Amino acid sequence: MAAPPVNLRGKVACVTGGGTGLGRAIARALAEAGADLAIIGRRPEPLAETAKACEAYGVRARPAVCDITDSGRVDALFDQIQSELGGPHILINNAGISRQSPILELENENWDDTLATNLSAVFYCCRAAGRFMVPAREGKVINIGSSAGSRGRPNQVAYAATKAGISGFTKALAVEWAPYNIQVNCLAPGRFATEMTRARIGDKEANEWFLRTVPMNRNPEPEEIQGLALFLASDQSSFMTGQTIYLDGGSSAI
Ligand code: NDP
Repeated sequence: MAAPPVNLRGKVACVTGGGTGLGRAIARALAEAGADLAIIGRRPEPLAETAKACEAYGVRARPAVCDITDSGRVDALFDQIQSELGGPHILINNAGISRQSPILELENENWDDTLATNLSAVFYCCRAAGRFMVPAREGKVINIGSSAGSRGRPNQVAYAATKAGISGFTKALAVEWAPYNIQVNCLAPGRFATEMTRARIGDKEANEWFLRTVPMNRNPEPEEIQGLALFLASDQSSFMTGQTIYLDGGSSAI
């Protein structure tokens, strides 16, 4: 029997970092499946662009300017989302930063910013959304991890620590929220072509070196994350929780 198409009509999804890259691709896919959206980030222009693209599918899409490293602002934002849109039913913790540096040159500020954005903010958003999901006994949380959380690469200690941390956070929260019918999973991409990776992909020699570690030998486009994100956001993944799923062209298989 063929799987039914994903239908998210009546659901409210929040996508952090939804203005650009993977977050924008996920927001568009959720909108196409019928979800209303809060698109969260610091810069208004990319948020407005994503919201416009989502509204073209006939859903409500609200750009929400917020620095998610500020827990007070995150709590206020989710209160506002709940009162304006309802839910939230789906939380995509996608916002992240990656600033490469050898450890001997890694400034405390870089380390602290990376932990604040990639790890602490995920905690703030889960806690803020959970205040609505737990009483409703319904929720889907998708944390965007990275293959960098499980594979060693130079100049990435801060980033790798946060992404490995996200996998552990995902397991713990999945078990804690299993009784409330909230599934929590981690979608861990390999390297995709986005703003974050443009410079590295543009460096021909470094790119060729990197692609030798990717069996499928290419940098995928952001749209290639959409199918798995939709699966994890929908009832089709109703019995899956606590998992880290790699979307990496086979890198984690070698
Ligand atoms: P982008 O740089 O395009 O997206 C990152 C987004 O996060 C931006 O929209 C940015 O918006 C937002 N953001 C950053 N800091 C904050 C903050 N403090 N508050 C609110 N929003 C914030 O990169 P990608 O799309 O590539 O990355 C998305 C996620 O995917 C990240 O978690 C990344 O680590 C992960 N990932 C990416 C891979 C890749 O190869 N591209 C591989 C593996 C994982 P603004 O600056 O306006 O706030």
